[in-house]
Amino acid sequence: MTKKHGTLTVVYGPMFSGKTSLLINVCAQDGSVVAFKPTIDTRYSDQAVLVSHNRVEVPAELIAADKPEVILTILKKKKYAKISHVVIDEVNFFAQSLVEVVETLIQRGIHVTVGGLMLDSEQQDFGPTRALANKADIVTRLFSRCDKPGCTRPAEFSYARKIKKEQIVVGATDLYGAACDDHYDELRARKQPKGLLISFEGGEGGGKSVQIKRLRDRLYQEFGWESVVLREPGGTVISEQIRQVLLSPDNVGMAYTTEVLLFQAARAQIYREIVLPSLEAGKVVLFDRTRDSSVVYQGMVRGFGMNLVEQLNDISTKNTKPHLTFLLDVPVKLGLARRNGSGKIDRLDMEKKDFHEKVRQAYLTLAREDKTGRWKVIDASRTIEKIEEDIWKVVKAKVGQK
Ligand SMILES: [Zn+2]
Repeated sequence: MTKKHGTLTVVYGPMFSGKTSLLINVCAQDGSVVAFKPTIDTRYSDQAVLVSHNRVEVPAELIAADKPEVILTILKKKKYAKISHVVIDEVNFFAQSLVEVVETLIQRGIHVTVGGLMLDSEQQDFGPTRALANKADIVTRLFSRCDKPGCTRPAEFSYARKIKKEQIVVGATDLYGAACDDHYDELRARKQPKGLLISFEGGEGGGKSVQIKRLRDRLYQEFGWESVVLREPGGTVISEQIRQVLLSPDNVGMAYTTEVLLFQAARAQIYREIVLPSLEAGKVVLFDRTRDSSVVYQGMVRGFGMNLVEQLNDISTKNTKPHLTFLLDVPVKLGLARRNGSGKIDRLDMEKKDFHEKVRQAYLTLAREDKTGRWKVIDASRTIEKIEEDIWKVVKAKVGQK
């Protein structure tokens, strides 16, 4: 008398391809079935159930992903002889030792149907799915719909919509999408930062540093993106030394030309040392003032000449301009009142109030005459929260385009 073996069926496919629905159908057809899923899979429910996208539920045992052997312990308690079929969902999350667990079940004459992702969002083998498929009697590949508008090809792959710190991301439609072979690279790449340079400009008291900090935190929380925050003049050892010379109250006698060239010297250093390599690596750079400050303060207000400063800027930055520039615009009186709360005095503070008014008007002119669309004028006389919301809306729209 030959020993009866169970059959192994593997169902795989990208996110939203209906794997769980298929497993639920198996449960409905066979009365003596026990379903399992990893505790990590709490996207649709943290209850002990399998749930399809159209909210059909069947009971399931929750198993720690790193301890698939517990499946055998549970089945032993339930008495093996009474069980004809075992269903396991999201097998990709389980440890490789799930393969031995499944083999044990099959040898005991139990049919096993498992579902999961074959590949992660980087197209690398994901957990024991492939090893199980290699041993399976039946392999069913499911497809979902490609996210690319107008595409009619079936999606074979999942891609991450957001980059997260955690190794395993548990989420649904906002975290993952599905793509066909033709559009995988495009859909995936669209969500990467690809080097984003954002500058904050404006006179005193507009709250640039507060907003930069908030944007940095939000980019991390929402997208998992790390930002490089820089201040000009400064940001490198050499540039910070130049900054001290520029801002020292001892240097009230500094010639315009000296000031202009010192700013550019500090800039040339930080762009070569930090900005350009960071953008090249696809990072986000948040700048507390950059080239436009020189255009406004030196080129326009102090009469060095806009075009001449722009030429120097092009040399210092290697022709790099911000993708977005926020002008935090605030009336001079309010700006200086806010600023005085800080108590620090530097050479630029000693300038008269009409100087600050000229700075404000120069910035507004620059933003108004901009043809590239990179300037966004923000009414910075409002609360920090309102300003933050405006900035976030613009950044989110920009990230969506990239
Ligand atoms: Zn497609």
